[in-house]
Amino acid sequence: MKHFAVLRFSLCIFISSIITGSALSQELPRRLAVTMDDLPLSIAARVDNAELDRVTTLLLEQIKDARTPVTAFVNENKLEVKGQRDSQRVATMKRWLDAGIALGNHTYAHKSQNRVPVPEAKEDIVKGMRTIHQLYAERGGRPEWFRHPYLQTGRDSLTRATLTAFLDSLGYRIAPVTLDNADWLFASAYDKAFAANDSAGMRAVAAEYLPYMTAKARYYEWMSDTLFGRQIPQILLLHANRLNGDHYAALCAEFRKMGYAFITLDEAMNDPVYRQYESFFGAAGISWLERWALTRGAGRTFFAKEVPVPMSIKERAGIYEE
Ligand SMILES: [Zn+2]
Repeated sequence: MKHFAVLRFSLCIFISSIITGSALSQELPRRLAVTMDDLPLSIAARVDNAELDRVTTLLLEQIKDARTPVTAFVNENKLEVKGQRDSQRVATMKRWLDAGIALGNHTYAHKSQNRVPVPEAKEDIVKGMRTIHQLYAERGGRPEWFRHPYLQTGRDSLTRATLTAFLDSLGYRIAPVTLDNADWLFASAYDKAFAANDSAGMRAVAAEYLPYMTAKARYYEWMSDTLFGRQIPQILLLHANRLNGDHYAALCAEFRKMGYAFITLDEAMNDPVYRQYESFFGAAGISWLERWALTRGAGRTFFAKEVPVPMSIKERAGIYEE
């Protein structure tokens, strides 16, 4: 059964490459929409407001320097201090909106839709609406996007259909990710070096971060080409952290060197590929390109070119699971 699925998949790839040829794969420019999760800051619970403000300033300066559209996703529990909504933290959200960055819902407490019952997942979505909807209302608008915590979208079709319909009823569009990566793991290594006042260590992490990200981009370009015979507009996942606060503009410069033009999430989502069906119900939070591949029957060997985080970074972070 499994072999048949792989064979059918290979045949499908073979036929699609005959039809489309390789000319499309040369199509330029490549397009990339940037999304940034876990606002106001991934480690918001572990820093005071002064540090939160400092890193927010860095991130917004980097985004301005890079001249890229960004759609960013908020966990509203990170706007609280000791269980109370904190006005200074809410003010940092206004700074993102003032910078022209669209804010979306990433749930209140970052609960996985794979792991909590549907009513609890719904509650986490609704609690994640309070502040951002208020800030948008003050400006005469409403948030448009929802991003799943851990990219986990439910382990069965009923859970997924129920929560998708619920998000739809609230007016949200689901923001997928194609260019998935472990920037959070590099950020953890970077934070450790920061805490130890180890600027050489921070530089060492950053030096590994950029080539890792471009290798990841090449990997998903290959997947796009293999599955669709062309370069689809990619959607990059990053996180609000010190690493991107110092290196986001340099990262974008690397992507520009690779031929990428930066587009909005809405522009990327206009591509018909994003209406493609996927039926991945596994435990992992994975890229939509991987979901589409698995839906077509891709086996383990299809993912053999996956780019791992260098061991030196894992050791620095003390994290060995990606
Ligand atoms: Zn997240």
